Amino acid sequence: MTDFDKTKQAFHLPQGVTYLDGNSLGPMPKAAKARVANMMADEWSEMLITGWNKAGWYVQPRKVGDRIARLIGAGPGQVVMGDTLSIKVFQAVSAARAMRPQRRVILSDSGNFPSDLYVAEGLARAVDAELRVVAPEEVAGAIDDTVAVLMITEVDYRTGRRHDMKALTQTAHTAGALTVWDLAHSAGAVDVDLLGCDADFAVGCTYKYLNGGPGAPAFIWTHPRHADAAQPILQGWMGHRAPFAFDQSYQPAPGVERMRVGTPPVIALTALDAALDVWDDVSMPDLRARSIELTQAFIAGVEEHCPDLVLNSPRDPAKRGSQVSFRHPQGYAVMQALIAQGVIGDFRAPDVLRFGFAPLYVDLDDVAHAVQIMAMILKDKSWDREEFHERASVT
Ligand SMILES: *Cc1c(COP(=O)(O)O)cnc(C)c1O
Repeated sequence: MTDFDKTKQAFHLPQGVTYLDGNSLGPMPKAAKARVANMMADEWSEMLITGWNKAGWYVQPRKVGDRIARLIGAGPGQVVMGDTLSIKVFQAVSAARAMRPQRRVILSDSGNFPSDLYVAEGLARAVDAELRVVAPEEVAGAIDDTVAVLMITEVDYRTGRRHDMKALTQTAHTAGALTVWDLAHSAGAVDVDLLGCDADFAVGCTYKYLNGGPGAPAFIWTHPRHADAAQPILQGWMGHRAPFAFDQSYQPAPGVERMRVGTPPVIALTALDAALDVWDDVSMPDLRARSIELTQAFIAGVEEHCPDLVLNSPRDPAKRGSQVSFRHPQGYAVMQALIAQGVIGDFRAPDVLRFGFAPLYVDLDDVAHAVQIMAMILKDKSWDREEFHERASVT
């Protein structure tokens, strides 16, 4: 059994804070601070340029990728780190679409995160493709023989609704399409099984449930059957077969490493590597069971004590990731009042209060406390103070 009291100890959680926003930015693993400080002192300071070889900076994107692979049902050598998730979405979707040159449609759903849709829209303009966006429930029915790529975020960033990766991938394959799965709200939150679902490409970020820190690099996975065939559109020198040959023309590296673009963010990868240590003793089935226990308890508590809130997430835990959202007409102000009381979730326009339940550091006491504070704020209407209505730029 995974010891979740022990994993909680591995994080710095500020005094008096109940943190239910790890779906946006995970808290700092205590070990990250010293790891980064040591990297600065021993590697960057002393080794200078030789750190690329001596300290292994150059191979770090692959080594860290291997650690993430275990958490998403992938194998060693199949995941590589770098860039932002938006860029990795572009890399994956463009490569997948190029493998189905006779087909024009990139199919996605309206529950997808805007950046994924923006990126696909820009790509479609550049390569004469078409982005088609349907409602989340209509995805399966919209897969036909015009679809080149199915681009889906497994867990909806607002509602927590979880798509059936295996079934949709099968439907896509039957129609001759390829799949790109965005695991932004899945990696470290649910039990992902990329190989078991026979997916084609996957991408995700590491600053949410994987706790790599603000701006931590993204990951990309290519199924081994495509890894030596996929042609990246962003042909950067770090994805070249021999970057230091400085050839005039591009030759892709073998396997997923061709998806690398430029120089990796070594300091950020160092913090992420420390964050991944916490996962070494975590079993993904235990994580999933714990996540369901927490989200069920939160829904039950809120529905019992906060009748003004309307559930905005699937009630069936099998159809839900590790977050829960509720609606309230004054959702923004309610969230600000909650944060002022130390219960941190976030707000998504127009009226959604969103709460992430990261089993590594959220427990049932935190859930009970959050419900109690929310009930109090709604009962005494303290959210209606002027200061709570003022909008900040990041919500
Ligand atoms: C968080 C998130 C992003 C963010 O992309 P960045 O390039 O890392 O800013 C993209 N897509 C989805 C689905 C997300 O949840």
